[in-house]
Amino acid sequence: MSITANKVVSIDYTLTDDDGEVIDTSTGAEPLEYLHGADNIVPGLEGALEGKAVGDELKVVIEPEDGYGEYEAELISIVSRGDIEGIDELEVGMELHAETPDGDVQIITIRELDGDEVTVDANHPLAGQRLTFQVRVVDVRDATADELAHGHPHGEDDHEH
Ligand code: ZN
Repeated sequence: MSITANKVVSIDYTLTDDDGEVIDTSTGAEPLEYLHGADNIVPGLEGALEGKAVGDELKVVIEPEDGYGEYEAELISIVSRGDIEGIDELEVGMELHAETPDGDVQIITIRELDGDEVTVDANHPLAGQRLTFQVRVVDVRDATADELAHGHPHGEDDHEH
């Protein structure tokens, strides 16, 4: 079975930056499962996996535009502490999960704290970076109707939403 839209794909992967530093890896953990064609993973990686099959290994170098986007200075803004709910102690470098108006989860990084002013950065932490993925395809299967409706895989655990 090869990878096409609506397949649930499991991959082992290691992600490194331009200096060869490991940013993320599935080594020592479960393979990453995603629904192909549903934007679960960055476009450059999803495109490279199209048509691949179990056992295939590939190295993919992804420019920011096909990864987490270019770094955009306009995405830095200043809010007041009161705008950030649910967190008692804010710290520089802290990554918060915020929900956008259309329901996507966005990572916001706190860059600066000055009295009541909080400088927040809505760029993805990997924005502007060239990414190198070393990937091995571990499993490919048909998605269930539930998974297709939700737009992501459900794995073996019970899933409540
Ligand atoms: Zn779901």
